[in-house]
Amino acid sequence: MAERILHKSPSGSVLHHLTDYAAARREFNWPAARRALVGGEDSRLNMAREALDRQIECGRGSQVAARFIDRDWNRAEVTYTELKGRAGRFANVLASLGAGRGATVATLLGRVPELFTVGLGTLEAGNVFCSLFSAFGPEPLRTRLELGHVRVLVTTESLYRRKVAPIRNTLPELRHVLIVRESSGSDLPQDTADFAELMSGASQEHETAPTRDTDIALLHFTSGTTGRPKGVTLNHAAVIAQHATSRLVLDLHPAEVFWCTADPGWVTGIAYGLIGPLTCGVTLVVDREEFDPRRWYRILEEERVNVWYTAPTAIRMLIKAGTALARERTFPHLRHLASVGEPLNAEAVLWGVEAFGMPFHDTWWQTETGAIMIANFAACEVLPGSMGRAVPGIEAQLARRTARGGLEILESFDETGEIALKPGWPSMFSGYLEDPERYQASFVDGWYLAGDLARRDAEGYFWFIGRADDVIKSAGHLISPFEVESTLMTHPAVAQVAVIGIPDPIAGQAVKAFIELKDGFEPGEALNRQIMGHARRLLGAVVAPREIAFKETLPRTRSGKLMRRLLRARELGLPEGDLSTLEGRE
Ligand code: ATP
Ligand code: MG
Repeated sequence: MAERILHKSPSGSVLHHLTDYAAARREFNWPAARRALVGGEDSRLNMAREALDRQIECGRGSQVAARFIDRDWNRAEVTYTELKGRAGRFANVLASLGAGRGATVATLLGRVPELFTVGLGTLEAGNVFCSLFSAFGPEPLRTRLELGHVRVLVTTESLYRRKVAPIRNTLPELRHVLIVRESSGSDLPQDTADFAELMSGASQEHETAPTRDTDIALLHFTSGTTGRPKGVTLNHAAVIAQHATSRLVLDLHPAEVFWCTADPGWVTGIAYGLIGPLTCGVTLVVDREEFDPRRWYRILEEERVNVWYTAPTAIRMLIKAGTALARERTFPHLRHLASVGEPLNAEAVLWGVEAFGMPFHDTWWQTETGAIMIANFAACEVLPGSMGRAVPGIEAQLARRTARGGLEILESFDETGEIALKPGWPSMFSGYLEDPERYQASFVDGWYLAGDLARRDAEGYFWFIGRADDVIKSAGHLISPFEVESTLMTHPAVAQVAVIGIPDPIAGQAVKAFIELKDGFEPGEALNRQIMGHARRLLGAVVAPREIAFKETLPRTRSGKLMRRLLRARELGLPEGDLSTLEGRE
């Protein structure tokens, strides 16, 4: 029986939105969730209206919506009313540029206030918003701007000169580039306009466009972990699920301080770094800098963060930096920790208890699902190593594709299957850009197939096995990369690990592990044997790695996911494929 941890917020601090899981599942339905937002059935649903207008109507206009922290700890705050004014101005700027409803507006910006203005203004205007990761080089940018038919781009002067100028003439559809100046005085590059100037010339009065549930609101590109990144569209209705999960899973309450560490260049940074939390009336903390353990602990303490949503890679880096650093600070305001993006090892969940006095709550979803689908809930027991249970309103099963192209839903527990979701939740993606066949192929027999394998126990908790592309078959066994990685993580020297299957003449495939060591450990034969012995003892000879290789760093996507496909390609001498999202690349 797995260890269970229950951490409820100290009595009196908040009432959790979800206390009784079974009752929440019984009582929840999407039409009611929609009505809770827009009221009458025929009202027009718009993400920006939910994030701004509704908050102001509820009396939160003068509350800080977002607080941006720069390198020198200067804080720039914007209230809900100010943000609404800026969004309205930008919507009017779009109208003045003739970028009519439906046209795509992209940002290539760091985590700055202008990104929020442009994102919300674009949604308010009824246009499509696409936030591009600012570290992309010219080629990945070109592909995405072209694929997304981007009409308007907002970026900074230096990003423009380095990345956009070299490709501008290959993008006839990109009509307007607006520059957020970093310093005053210099001449703007040719064929660009001054963002601030356009904004100050525009009125802040703007009526939110009468969008429908099915109008496209967001364009996101996936992380590119398994192959070429895909363009995924989400409709305005996604706000219903993003709001519901911000309440039920992240347990957000008005006026609380919330920190989502994901960059807005990825779906998490928009769904839970912007839209969902604002619809709950929180104050967002936005750090403009990159990961740094000391800085992060300081933010958690000084910004009085109540709820924190982060990712396994970051948690593992904090573990690697040592718990003593966390102990230098106290976190009396912190009450709920959650994680997403990669499987969260039991070790990491438990480390949360050690460092913060509470476990990390894993959540599972993907760009395509538009919102959290499977989760550990704040007031429910956490089973370390499990992704949790299906969110109210979500029907999640495990399935196996049959040889005849159909689908078999697995009835018994503890069988491995692919995560299958019953369409009908409002944030389900509405398409893969320019790839309708692939979109169609994601649905089999009336289910959306996620491409991730898992197991489920009798209580409905899901346990991640691996991505369908990453699982290893050895001597007739299906080996879960996550299980092997989690076991290796229990060795005191191991900081991060990725395993892949390598060809084996007898077993078909054998396991090879790539290991990043914790500070203070030296790679070498002796340590290799020690870790190998540890793995054999815990996993048995069939599942334990046959080979171990030590690496300074493991290849990751910019959103922090281990790129096993790249390790595999290099190991087998195969083409490396699309590397546009590989960390450290330009
Ligand atoms: P691509 O589809 O381009 O290969 P990607 O799937 O990594 O990239 P995202 O949509 O950003 O792009 O990530 C979703 C995927 O991340 C999920 O399908 C799953 O494999 C992984 N993931 C997310 N959360 C979890 C979790 N809690 N546990 C295990 N895996 C997770
Ligand atoms: Mg994917």
